[in-house]
Amino acid sequence: MTTEPRLVDRHDRGALRHPASVYGTSVDGLPLTVYLPRSGSAELLLLAAIHGDEPETTVVVSEALRCLPKDDLRAAVILCGNPDGMVRGTRGNARGVDLNRNFPTANWRPDPVFYKSRADDARDIALSPGEEPASEPETRALLKLIARVQPRAVVSLHSALACVDDSGSSHLGRQLADRCALPFLTEIGYPTPGSMGTWAAERGLNLVTLELEDASLYTLKDRHVPVLLDLMTGRVALEA
Ligand SMILES: [Zn+2]
Repeated sequence: MTTEPRLVDRHDRGALRHPASVYGTSVDGLPLTVYLPRSGSAELLLLAAIHGDEPETTVVVSEALRCLPKDDLRAAVILCGNPDGMVRGTRGNARGVDLNRNFPTANWRPDPVFYKSRADDARDIALSPGEEPASEPETRALLKLIARVQPRAVVSLHSALACVDDSGSSHLGRQLADRCALPFLTEIGYPTPGSMGTWAAERGLNLVTLELEDASLYTLKDRHVPVLLDLMTGRVALEA
């Protein structure tokens, strides 16, 4: 497909007009919402803010979604996989669990997982991976949604490591790195037991992590909204 996506008139881009459906409830009782094509099925799932302290991913994906006419949406879109964390400004959910270490993988461990809050910091801030795999309602809801929608690929947005991480070295991942002008990695360089990426890889589901760069929201929107529009409208081939 070579044509540009149709865009909503600028006047009408202030609100999300796509119908949302609720796919679960957070620990605090907030609805977990997904925007789906009318058909209810989608080849691609776009997921923002599974880490609550990465709100720029939500804002950038929201802007792309608000530019897109309702009928043209082909992907399933989650603007915030961790609303309790977003409200708190924390990476983890309301119970302090890093949801991206709470997936049922062979390498899940009950030990604390560590992160850093700045690129140059030590990775020494501890979070829980949950009491057991998929202990958190946000994780379980995502697993159920994926089982229902059966996407062929997932793009999970994070910030701000400025790279595309794709352990399967997929066509989709390489195209995304190219389009976003970000380095392409097949190994993020530190252990991520219980991550959604590992869970997907164990099931043969193509999951690409898009780590936005450390830049202003204006810059991130300018650089990434066009690519996100192409992802949402099926203009990026999942396979070669
Ligand atoms: Zn993240």
